[in-house]
Amino acid sequence: METIHLSSCPVCSGNKLKKELTCTDFLVSNEKFLLLKCENCGFVFTQDFPNEEEIGRYYDTPQYISHSDTQKGLINSLYHFARKIAMRSKSNLVSDYSAVKSGKLLDIGSGTGYFLHTMCRKKWIVTGIEKSESARVYAHEKFGLNTQDSGYLFEIPEETKDIVTMWHVLEHIESLNDTMSGIYRILKKDGTAVIALPNKESSDARHYKSYWAAYDVPRHLWHFSPSDFELLAEKHNFKVEKIKPMYFDPFYISMLSEKYKGTFAAALVGLTKGFFFFLRSLGNKKKCSSLVYILKKK
Ligand SMILES: [Zn+2]
Repeated sequence: METIHLSSCPVCSGNKLKKELTCTDFLVSNEKFLLLKCENCGFVFTQDFPNEEEIGRYYDTPQYISHSDTQKGLINSLYHFARKIAMRSKSNLVSDYSAVKSGKLLDIGSGTGYFLHTMCRKKWIVTGIEKSESARVYAHEKFGLNTQDSGYLFEIPEETKDIVTMWHVLEHIESLNDTMSGIYRILKKDGTAVIALPNKESSDARHYKSYWAAYDVPRHLWHFSPSDFELLAEKHNFKVEKIKPMYFDPFYISMLSEKYKGTFAAALVGLTKGFFFFLRSLGNKKKCSSLVYILKKK
């Protein structure tokens, strides 16, 4: 298999890398992947991950719910319920931090189009970028959205977007630095980037270690904490204006993690522990499973 081997840190270019964890792909292949940590900035990444041509088969499962619409099983049903509420909170976040009431919004990794559809109804002029052809077809058939393939980011004229959103997408993208500089280029001077990422310093990540579902190797290449994401943002001339927790994620991630551990009544145990992690994140937002970073141009 063709893999990508990194000999330096993509955030700070440091070349002192040490083994952090070995994680299993519990979702698709059961293959094991090594996570390395940069000794300089603390950033963790998946080493020797499949390249663009090979990675497709690791997404090839009906359980990969962000690319499908299946409603089978308790975890999926809860996910779909949570999605309705999540759409409301995502659109509220955009309204709270945008410099304009409505304008031009780009969603990178727009999936099946639910978020774009929500924003379209709020009078935003929306564009989506989505790598999966089946997800693009779905978004078109269900919502009439025309979304674009990956390379489109680099064709957008500079300083033309008010908002760029990425909901749990950046951790999947091989071209991490090019994507960050691409977002900077297309945002207007008072534009806002809204980037949601799993948080490897969350209470649940610490608890589940290699079973933490949000490591999700080899689909997740980059494993951020608030401090290393801030470094990446600054490197691309952004300042982090705000960090917001996503309160639903501890529940979902804990249920999945318990399932991966083979726990009896995984959903129930995961929900209970998720509630505990949720309470912890109320006390310290940076301990939440997932964080949304609001970035402004410097
Ligand atoms: Zn580093």
